[in-house]
Amino acid sequence: MGKAVALVPTPVCPFCGKMGTVEIAVEKLTTFNRWRFNRNVPIQEVFPELSAEDREMIMTGIHPDCWEEAFSEEDTESTVSY
Ligand SMILES: [Zn+2]
Repeated sequence: MGKAVALVPTPVCPFCGKMGTVEIAVEKLTTFNRWRFNRNVPIQEVFPELSAEDREMIMTGIHPDCWEEAFSEEDTESTVSY
């Protein structure tokens, strides 16, 4: 049996303007809600089991794909061929 998970909404992504969701363990919901209103605890301490991407989404709403796109765009711009 897998763990019970809950989908929590993430903030609007500044790159694509869409919200997202991150799966967290149901038992972490209370912790998550508490953290949302009182962010004096580092998120890596609240969700050590989540990936850095998921934690980034919870904090800023930025999707892993949007990060990649933003960085690859920068890359192509810096390697302009003449
Ligand atoms: Zn996005």
